[in-house]
Amino acid sequence: MIELLGVSLDDIRALMVTNGFPAFRGKQIVDYIYKRHITTFADMTQLPKSLREWLLANCQISLPKVVVRQVAPKGDTQKLLLELGDGSRIETVLMDQDYGLSVCVSSQVGCAMGCVFCASTTNGLLRNLTRAEIVGQVLLFSQLTGQHIHSIVMMGSGEPLKNYDEVVGALRIFHEPAMFGIGYRRMTLSTCGIIDGIRRLADEDMPITLALSLHAPNDVLRKQIMPIGSAYALKDIFDALLYYYNKQQRRITFEYILINHCNASLKEAHQLGQLVKVIPNCHINLIPINGNEHIHMVKPSVAVMNQFKAIVESYGVPVTIRKEMGDAIKAACGQLKMQVGSHKESIEK
Ligand code: SF4
Repeated sequence: MIELLGVSLDDIRALMVTNGFPAFRGKQIVDYIYKRHITTFADMTQLPKSLREWLLANCQISLPKVVVRQVAPKGDTQKLLLELGDGSRIETVLMDQDYGLSVCVSSQVGCAMGCVFCASTTNGLLRNLTRAEIVGQVLLFSQLTGQHIHSIVMMGSGEPLKNYDEVVGALRIFHEPAMFGIGYRRMTLSTCGIIDGIRRLADEDMPITLALSLHAPNDVLRKQIMPIGSAYALKDIFDALLYYYNKQQRRITFEYILINHCNASLKEAHQLGQLVKVIPNCHINLIPINGNEHIHMVKPSVAVMNQFKAIVESYGVPVTIRKEMGDAIKAACGQLKMQVGSHKESIEK
């Protein structure tokens, strides 16, 4: 079966022509899927019966199945636990922001990176998501809300730059005006620092915002809490970030989870300010860790967090402490499982 989800308009048009249908039918199919959120061929009633029958026999639109839907108490954030065709499960989060709806998307089933504060890596990496599975997460929220999706953050489970081609392909589908029509400037990709991926992304015609999951201000501590720190030194990651900034002229964001007795001392605040000030126009998001039964870590006191923030700001770097609850769901990649609100609504089992 030919999967249509995540296939470009040009390729769907070409598919039509190759199989004896006019090219304009491709645009009609794309309109049905992405503008009207209709994913059942039988319901595409403006297509001729012969084409609907051909689609039914030869093509598929594989939306993930919703297993559980969780809504944060304030109702501004909701998470879907989704089941894919092979039974794998992933999470996707929708955030209702002042400026519109934003979806936090997963790029892999699990993650190989092993960050000690992250639930997504508990069972390691199971597999990469396909382009269709990445696109399907956003289409599902379009379908459920009936609203336009304003922005995309690739901060769900997985390291997106370890699934480069499928992720970049999906970002192009999100951008395509005939499909989601989301500007690249409204997309953010978060990486733990895969240098070759950052440099490759810098050379794409795709000015998205890059976020680095930093979480430690020196190599020694970073190796302890993020195994990727043993593969890439911070100096080399920062060289790649500068290359990205100079090529794309997009602000670099740093994600820094605050963990008490780990990375949140005042000495580390000074180190962090020193480290990031070399990147022009950057921004730091401080994220108080939200421990659970799997992650035995606690956040510092509010006073310590405010002091930490003030010290980093003294280096001329803008800093935000991310507020918790629904907003915390969009924390560094892989934080979804431990940060979603507690009100659970099962809509399909
Ligand atoms: S924080 Fe991101 S890179 Fe690290 S284990 Fe979690 S999903 Fe993977």
